[in-house]
Formats: sequence, structure tokens, C-alpha cells
Amino acid sequence: MYKEIELNIKQEFISDYTDGYPLITKESIVDWSKVKEEGSVVKLLDSKNKFLAKGYYGKQNKGYGWILSLKKDEKIDVEFFTKKIKSSIDYRKNFFNDESTTAFRVLNGEGDGLGGLTIDYFDGFYLLTWYSIGIYELKSEILEALKSVVTYKGIYQKKRFDGKGMYLDDSNDFVCGEEAEAPLIVKENNANFAIYLDDGPMVGVFLDQRDVRRTIRDKYAKGKTVLNTFSYTGAFSVFAALGGSTKTTSVDLANRSRPKTTEQFTINNLHVENQDIIVEDVFNYFKYAVKKHLLFDIVVLDPPSFARSKKHTFSASKDYVKLLKEAIQITNKGGVIVASTNSANFSMMTFRDFIFKAFKELKGKYEVEESFSLPKDFRVAHKFKEGNYLKVVFIRKLK
Ligand code: SAH
Repeated sequence: MYKEIELNIKQEFISDYTDGYPLITKESIVDWSKVKEEGSVVKLLDSKNKFLAKGYYGKQNKGYGWILSLKKDEKIDVEFFTKKIKSSIDYRKNFFNDESTTAFRVLNGEGDGLGGLTIDYFDGFYLLTWYSIGIYELKSEILEALKSVVTYKGIYQKKRFDGKGMYLDDSNDFVCGEEAEAPLIVKENNANFAIYLDDGPMVGVFLDQRDVRRTIRDKYAKGKTVLNTFSYTGAFSVFAALGGSTKTTSVDLANRSRPKTTEQFTINNLHVENQDIIVEDVFNYFKYAVKKHLLFDIVVLDPPSFARSKKHTFSASKDYVKLLKEAIQITNKGGVIVASTNSANFSMMTFRDFIFKAFKELKGKYEVEESFSLPKDFRVAHKFKEGNYLKVVFIRKLK
């Protein structure tokens, strides 16, 4: 039976919710003990029991759930999710109509009013990523809604929360419809990507870097040497090669990166023999490059927010300046460093400070050519700027 649990909000947090802040925070609730089950619909009230907002309980690293509606009488049911999905698809109409790009985000969590869930599109297949048990408990309603709105070849899912063991009967990534080929070849601005919808947590590409890849291909790569660090499947290298770079060097610690990168080059009809693919710790590679006096025209830095390898721990908020200093030393004068981070812990302003500091410490000079945040399909909620995690800066090294 449909049920809503009433929760009172502490006075000092009331204006956050009436202003449209989408995250339900632990501190803002007077008494959490009434809510036991993840996925419960909760109704937030002020101290006089006046309605503020409703949402669901689902624990994520960020908070205790997400607001879904500011309307008192709106039920959180199939009809509700249908409306949300319809409007998120409508917002991306141009993507659906663009034949040169067949992979993009269809629903971006709280940016589309549905925190805890993302939906990506891969040439007729839909991939749902669940970020809490709470949202996963609402799966059957959400799936029914999605199926009523789109025509699909198949639907897949990823569970990105602890406690997956609770759902042993549903441990597959494949949900329904046809199974996708492996790899599934999708297009991005006319380039190809090999996608694996059922092979671990990552599918082969990070869609949020689409505009950055195109920029490297169309404006920077021609005739240049490119070092791509933390290269994963080599997406930046492939775009650089497609843009006419003379040579790319991809460096990643993971063994899988060699076959994966080779595959991405091959499906784009590029000769992989002309490219270097190196499986190594980036920090060792920097030492090697400095010792050998290697210099590159373009250096791409796209580290994870946090990573631990055998010898190093890297945290973007603590160590990005150091990373930049390594990169500056092996970039040609007049060359470009593409510095990227997906860390939500600091702002673009802080990131620009990191760049300033790195050059200052090396007595270098630079100019910012351009910068990027999330592309249009990664819609961000106005009242939740933390959701705009991506920061990419193209830095020209002058000295
Ligand atoms: N730039 C990639 C995405 C990077 S994902 C793209 O555009 O698709 C982060 C990658 O960093 C992972 O593939 C991981 O294996 C790698 N990685 C993490 N720590 C590393 C280290 N110390 N040295 C090299 N690679 C590392």
C-alpha cells in the first residue's frame, strides 16, 4: 500500500527545502527513527506540521535521500516517474535527433528531479545506474515508467551502492529486452566507441567528456604529440589521432587499458602501431619522461578524484598541484595541458588556484585558453551546484 512517512524539519533548514535544495540531509531531520526502510516516501513538515516537500529515503555518501516533489498531493508512483522521464527526454530532443552521436545521458539524477538515478542511452539501449538501496527499491515503478515512454532495444543496470548482496535474485546487469552485442559500437561526433554494457562497473567511456574530446580533435591535435595520462580506454588519444596528431602516448596503470585502447583505435580505422600504449603508474612515467627529456605538445591529465596504487596515493584536492608540476615539466613551450578533474570537493575557482600555484612554484607562465564543465545532457540542479563536478581547463604553457 502507498504510504508516506511524516518527518519534521529543524527550523534552520526549512528555507533550504522551500528554496528547492534537493538533498535530504541527516542533520535537517528532527527524528529519523520513524523511517526504517530505504525507498520509503517521506513527507517533510515544519514544526507546525505545515508541508514543505516530499522525497524518498535512500542513504548515499551525500545524504539521506532526495526531494522529489514540492506538491503536497502529488503521489510518488508510476505516473510521477513517467512525467519525470518524459520531460528529461524532451530536454534532450536534439541528442535523439543527432545521428552523429548515439551515446548520451538521458536522465541526470537530481538535475532532472530524480536524485540517486542516472539513465544513459547507447544506441537504443538504456543503462540505469542506481546510487542507493532506496532508489533501487523504487525500481519496478521506474522501469514501468521508462518502458511506457521509450522504445528500446534492451535495458541494463548498474548498482552503485553497498548492500548489493540483498538482491541476489537480481544480480545481473541485463534487465530486459534484447541483449546488446559486446562490444556495442556507438557514435560520438562521428567517432566510434566500443561499449560493454555487461562487463563490470564501467562501460568503456565517460560521456561527460564529449565536448572536451571534440575540442581536442577539432582545435588542438593536428600535427601535435599527445601524452594522455590516466587514459583508461584511450578515448582522448583516439580523438587526438582522429584530429591528426602525429603520435599519442596513453598511460594507465590497469592491465585492461592495453587491449581496450587498442580496440578503440582499431574500430576507428587508426593504425595502433603508430601509438604508444603504456601500462604503468603515471607517477613513475613522469619520472622516466623527465629523465629521458621527453617533451609533448599536449598533455592530458584526467585522474580519478582518489586513487591508491602500490606506491602512491593520489587525492585530487591534495595532490593536483603536484600533478600539474610534473606535467608542466614535460610540456613543450607553447604546448597545452588539458587539466581535468571530476572531484566535487572543490570549485572551478580552487582548481584555477591550483594551476596558478603550480606555475608559480616552477616560475613558469601560462594562459588559460578555454574551460569546460558538464555538457548539456548532464543537467545540473540550480540549487545543487555540487552536482556540477566536472572541471576541465586548457592551459597554454608560455614559459
Ligand atoms: N581519462 C579517461 C578516464 C580516466 S578513469 C577517459 O577519458 O576515458 C581513471 C583511470 O586512472 C583508470 O583507468 C585507472 O586505472 C587509472 N589510474 C588510477 N591511478 C593511476 C596511476 N597512479 N597511474 C596510472 N593510471 C592510474
